[in-house]
Amino acid sequence: MKNWIRLPKEKLIEKLWAAEPKIKGILQNSKHVEEARFILFDYLNRLERDLFNMRSDTYFINLNIVEKRNAKECIRVLSNVMRTENEYLTGVSPLGLLFDLAKEIPEATTKINEAFLCEFISLFRGISGKAGKHSTSTEIFKMTDGREAATIRSHQLDSYASLIRRYFKRYKTGYDRSIVRQRQELKNDILLYFGAEESHWQDYLWHYRHIIKDIKTLSDLVRLEPDEAEGLACAAENGIPFEITPHYLSLFNKAVRTDADRQIRAQVIPSLKYCQGVIESREKGVDMDFMGEKSTSPIDGITRRYPEILILKPYNSCPQICVYCQRNWEIKSIDDTVQMSREKIREAMAWIKERDGITEVLITGGDPLTLKNDYLDWLIGEVADIRHVERIRIGTRIPVTVPFRINDGLLDVFRKYHEWGKRELAIVTHFEHASEITPDSLEAVKKIKSLGMNVYNQQVFTYFNSRRFETGLLRKMLKLSGIDPYYTFSTKGKEETIDFRVPIARIEQERREEARLQPGLVRKDEPVFNVPRLGKSHLQAWQDHEVIMILPDGRRVYRFYSWEVRLVTALDYLYTDVTIYDYLNRLADDGENIADYSTIWYYF
Ligand code: SF4
Repeated sequence: MKNWIRLPKEKLIEKLWAAEPKIKGILQNSKHVEEARFILFDYLNRLERDLFNMRSDTYFINLNIVEKRNAKECIRVLSNVMRTENEYLTGVSPLGLLFDLAKEIPEATTKINEAFLCEFISLFRGISGKAGKHSTSTEIFKMTDGREAATIRSHQLDSYASLIRRYFKRYKTGYDRSIVRQRQELKNDILLYFGAEESHWQDYLWHYRHIIKDIKTLSDLVRLEPDEAEGLACAAENGIPFEITPHYLSLFNKAVRTDADRQIRAQVIPSLKYCQGVIESREKGVDMDFMGEKSTSPIDGITRRYPEILILKPYNSCPQICVYCQRNWEIKSIDDTVQMSREKIREAMAWIKERDGITEVLITGGDPLTLKNDYLDWLIGEVADIRHVERIRIGTRIPVTVPFRINDGLLDVFRKYHEWGKRELAIVTHFEHASEITPDSLEAVKKIKSLGMNVYNQQVFTYFNSRRFETGLLRKMLKLSGIDPYYTFSTKGKEETIDFRVPIARIEQERREEARLQPGLVRKDEPVFNVPRLGKSHLQAWQDHEVIMILPDGRRVYRFYSWEVRLVTALDYLYTDVTIYDYLNRLADDGENIADYSTIWYYF
């Protein structure tokens, strides 16, 4: 793809009408929008019939099936955005905007932006089979048989494999020798700074006591970029907490932000935009509980969205605070932690005991492994005591933030409650990038696995791990380290975390074009969008969501249907995404070749 999305608005308008001159003609020749709507629906219906009609003209008959299938999908989306019901739901009419544009009404161009035009250029190209999805590379394979066919096919598969390797080489893992060496040096600096030695480093309580929460300590230890210093200053002025464990800080590149540590820094250094978003939410009284947890908590400490599993939150702090955390509205600094009283926990247990359909309890928070062993022993024991609970998950980032917490005392607690064939105790952790998987993390995971316990990973698909095959490398390294990739979460619509958000189309593209090339055991996690109050919608299941609108600023509006829609008349949910246009431009500014992402427009 040429960098056409960077063209000025006038040029994009020319491209729009060049992509579908017939639509321009319909709009220009209609007396009003309703007439145009009527004729356009008719036009799209005919187009869809022609695509698969053996008596169509030769253009349609000869069109590649991949283009035809894509055209059908684009017709569905274009029809959706022209429906009056969807105009009513979203309060905008792209058809009206296109109508004015075709009629060259002077103010029409001011009502839309480049992102809007790029979406419609892509749709217009798509509906008539001109998305550029046709490839001839499999034709020869189809025309041969036997060993000859196998050899041709094998060459083709070799080229896919080398494509994967080429991308993987761009990213560093935490096992890379140069990275290990460089991190050892920073670790030595951190120990020296705090007057400590190697034995302290292995002691998780030492890490808790030396969590970095002020700009001075941080800037004494690593060089901050001007934008990072600005964000941190704003956070300090406005009481927005940040916390970094010494272990996680040792993953930074000391002298300068590089491509190998930008995703690490971004996770823990609040940006200016993030702080401004939090301040604005506070001023406007916006509830940052995007997931609506308060409305899914039937009793203190419990969140329930599914029939058999629920969440228990005994603790609302973490040794380290992730900027994009969905619970940023309730995560407190480790010093002013609120731990649920034993009495409240007992009330929650009694509530679970009355519901024998609940077979699984996810203990999360905050990070529950920040709690002391004797409390954890008691807590897990209370849950394990419930006859119908057959699995206890512990949601923790400890293997990433303080891997030394996985010590003998904790393993003794785990050992008590993981009973083969009776009750599973499992860890669900949260690695975001292959560069976070360090030899120390591996050691922690090995200890857990030595008890026969499973370790799963949930990653959030953010801007900082969304480049081609970046997250594929994470999954590959996870599997090699004994961790099963479990979920890939789409970022939420939390306005303050806009820096992290990625269009849903990119997750779908990653799943189909990158994960699909990797072996099944590696790619086996599920990309999901967590619908507020209702729970996860699987993004691979196209029936569970659809694009219903494209706003004048180019943002797509999705309609999600809840996971239980096939059982009952369930609620739906409208979600406004970030624009593909802004995402691609940001990638380009960061040095990516956006031609690599050209098909993103055709994932809905
Ligand atoms: S470890 Fe989990 S709960 Fe804690 S701040 Fe990070 S994302 Fe939030």
